[in-house]
Amino acid sequence: MTEPTCVVCKQPLGAGGVRLRYEGALYAFDGERCKRIFQENPDRWLDAHGGVLDQPR
Ligand SMILES: [Zn+2]
Repeated sequence: MTEPTCVVCKQPLGAGGVRLRYEGALYAFDGERCKRIFQENPDRWLDAHGGVLDQPR
């Protein structure tokens, strides 16, 4: 298993992190800033099945 990382900036979450439920899946971010970036355009960070993309669109 790999360490959980932020969806947006790919930094390890460590002990902290913010969770967000989006379309039935749970995504994790290292802070509110990255969560907001994700919320502005979730499709940029996810593939058609809700998986996190290695490279944003
Ligand atoms: Zn981040």
